[in-house]
Order: sequence, then C-alpha cells, then structure tokens
Amino acid sequence: MPSAVPSSPHTAVVPAAATAFRSAIDVVRDVEPRVADAIGAEVEDQRASLKLIASENYASPAVLLTMGNWFSDKYAEGTVGRRFYAGCRNVDTVEALAAEHARELFGAEHAYVQPHSGIDANLVAYWAILSQRVEGPALRRAGVRNVNDLTDGDWAELRRELGDQRLLGMSLDAGGHLTHGFRPNLSGKMFDQRSYGTDPGTGLLDYDALRATAREFRPLVLVAGYSAYPRLVNFRLMREIADEVGATLMVDMAHFAGLVAGKVLTGDFDPVPHAQIVTSTTHKSLRGPRGGLVLCDAELAEHVDRGCPMVLGGPLPHVMAAKAVALAEARRPEFRDYAQRVVDNARALAEGLLRRGVRLVTGGTDNHLVLLDVSGSGLTGRQAEAALLDSGVVTNRNAVPQDPNGAWYTSGVRIGTPALTTRGLGPAEMDEIADLITTVLAATAPTDPGTGRESRARYVLDPQARDAVAKRAADLLTDFPLYPGLDLV
Ligand SMILES: *Cc1c(COP(=O)(O)O)cnc(C)c1O
Repeated sequence: MPSAVPSSPHTAVVPAAATAFRSAIDVVRDVEPRVADAIGAEVEDQRASLKLIASENYASPAVLLTMGNWFSDKYAEGTVGRRFYAGCRNVDTVEALAAEHARELFGAEHAYVQPHSGIDANLVAYWAILSQRVEGPALRRAGVRNVNDLTDGDWAELRRELGDQRLLGMSLDAGGHLTHGFRPNLSGKMFDQRSYGTDPGTGLLDYDALRATAREFRPLVLVAGYSAYPRLVNFRLMREIADEVGATLMVDMAHFAGLVAGKVLTGDFDPVPHAQIVTSTTHKSLRGPRGGLVLCDAELAEHVDRGCPMVLGGPLPHVMAAKAVALAEARRPEFRDYAQRVVDNARALAEGLLRRGVRLVTGGTDNHLVLLDVSGSGLTGRQAEAALLDSGVVTNRNAVPQDPNGAWYTSGVRIGTPALTTRGLGPAEMDEIADLITTVLAATAPTDPGTGRESRARYVLDPQARDAVAKRAADLLTDFPLYPGLDLV
C-alpha cells in the first residue's frame, strides 16, 4: 500500500457533483447572498488551512449532498416501523439502512442512529442504562409497566434513586470528555462522579488504580473513551473491571470510531465486543455527517430505542440518510487503507516531533492523535496554539495530565491526522509538518512572563519565521487539492 496518495479520491468532485454544489449556492445567493458567500469562503478556508484538529475531517461530496433535501421536512418520532407520525416509509428506509450498515460495520447486535451529536448519543446511553438498571426494577417492584402508573410516592422515590447513581470516567486532564460526568455538563449533575487517570510517570492509563477506585466506589456505569489520550485502551480489561463491580461498561468512541471501523483497533482494543454499550460521533475519524450513534447489546436495545422522546427531539432524517451513505463508504476496503494511513501518519508526526526535541505526553502515539507538552518551550498551550495559527497551522490547545495551567490556558497542544490523511498527505509530509511546528515553537516567546493571568495568553512570534512557515504550509497543500474539480467562484 502506498504511504502517500497523490490526491484525495475521497474528496474528488465529479462534474455532476460540482454542478450540484454550484447550483445550490446560486439558489441560496438569490435569497441571502451573505450566506452563499460564507459557504464559498468556508470551502476556501478549509482548502487553505493545514488542519491538524484531531476531531475534524472532510466528508465526501456524496455525504454532503445527501444532507440537503426533503427528508429535512419530515417528522419521524419513534423507531423504524413504529412512528408517531404518518408517512414515514422513506425515513424508515434510510434509518434502517444506516442502522444495518452500522451493525455490520462494527459487528454490533443493535444500532441506534438518531442521536444528533456525540453528546446526545451519550445522554441516550446514560438514560438507557438508568432505564434498564434502575427504572425497570422499580416498575417491576411496583407491579406496573409504565412510569405513569406509579403512585406519587413511588414516583418520588424512583426520581431520587435515578439521581443517586454513580459513574466512573476518565479524568479530563488525562484525556476524558466533559460528558463523562463532569459538573459543567448535564452528566455531572445527573451522576455522582469519580475519575480515573493515568500514571504520572508514564502517562499511561493506570488499570490497577482504576480497579481499586472501581472496587471502592462501585459505580453503576464505567465509562471508557477519550478525546485526548494518544494510546490504546484495553477494553477487555475494562469489561473485566466493570463486571467485577457490577457496572455497565460504556465506551465513548467518538474520536476513534474510524479506527474501529477500519479494523486498526481490533481484539482487546475494539470496544464493540467488550462493552455493553458504545457511543460515537459520525463526523470525526468516521468521516460522515455531523451526528451521533449508539451501538448496544440486545438486552439494552429497547431502552436505547426510546432515546426519542426520552432525550432527543424528532430525528434528523436527512442526516440519518447521510449516515447511511458514510457508513456504506466506511464498509469499503479503501476505508481500511485510510484508517491504517491515519495511524501511520500520526506515528510519523510523533517521530518527527520527538526527533526535533518536542516532549510528547506518553512519549508517542498508537492512534490518530499526538499530545504535545509545550511547557519546555516556556509556552502555554494557548500561546502555542495562537502562534501556530498565525503561521497557518490549525491545532487546538489541550490540558496535559496534572496541568499547572488549567483547562483554559493549558500546557499542551493536541494534533491529529484524520483530516490531512483524507486529503492524501503521507508520512513524508508529516515530517515536514513536524518541522513547521517546531520552527514556530522555537520562534515564539511569552511576553511579560509572570505578570498575571493574561500573560499566559500573550506572546511574540518572529514574523520572518511566521511567514516562512505559512509559505511552506501553503506549498505543502498545493500538491493535495481539497475537493478538486469544485470551483465555486
Ligand atoms: C467530540 C466528543 C463528544 C461530543 O461530540 P459532539 O458531536 O460534539 O456532541 C463526546 N465524547 C467524546 C469522547 C468526544 O471526543
């Protein structure tokens, strides 16, 4: 398999698609030209930027075009074949197709494709678990089938019980996600939460400490999954720990679903055979439309299927249709090549950075992302992120374990390869990118060190280095056109 492909077949635009996009923008321009202009400008921005944001990607023209149609007008509360609205046969077709592709692709017993985003998928999963493990037993105790049939006293008791459950998730600074029980998110208000983290020496997940916390805390839900952990997670071991303490294992694969779909993460590292319930986004490494999905064991299926109206409003049929298209793309053999290249590229990028003296959390990567610790350059993550952006390199700052600068300024920068891999860049380009990043970091210095909080945002960047890097970044991208064949101006 070639390590680099000359252009990006995934984003290539056939003439019919180019005409469709152009015509659509013309139609919009007749109503509100500023929106039409913004759409055109967005394509140009995406073409011009070296996108290293680990959670972003480029969807195919087929996925994008599937979202703009009459499915958007349809209400379809309920599930396939059991709707609260008439006239849903075509929505049934696309929802059933998306679910079938998801089940087949991931080898899951059940798939629910209605969540509008990753955060919604997690809420559906939490309430499905609460429904199965807390509400169901309460209804059986009371001898009724429906919460509406509970006495006021039993209902008050059930509401207290639902609000009194425990969740154990990965800490934010180890790479966990806000929706894993943190107070600013609804999940943190619903659950009594505790965190597990990584070993301060190695930066790797500390399963022994996790097991000890689980034994003591006895959570109802053990959540695995991350947004900023650059290594593999052993989901077989996670399930063992969950079983030992009577927890339901939920894995949030929002970030790495594409690596699971592309069979790069297999065996102990594939969450689907090990977790009772798995949630995901569809727009990150999976390369589909913005959205979410839930996979689960058969026993949880009826609870998950009540996501609407429990948590969600009416489904977005136009997005479910686009999920079906994206999941069909992910079932093609080319997607496995893509997923492997994503990981190969991340490794090349990590090696290039290490060779140039950058400190990486855990010392490298096994997946699609790399977490730089920039504190050695005397910079905060915020300063590094801004200096890189000035130079045409788009990343995002991220906390590192035990981050002395907190979650706002941070000491880290997170970079990922899914988007640039879709564009066709390979290991040689990753080495060049490592050089661009280290050049910017070396040319950036904090201003007024030690004079208050805002000093953690201010920096000076040598303008010559900035312009040179911006030029090299632009040159790098000219060989890898994004949406070639699409001319909007
Ligand atoms: C991105 C992400 C989410 C949220 O996805 P949205 O579609 O933005 O709601 C949830 N969990 C994890 C681990 C993520 O990385």
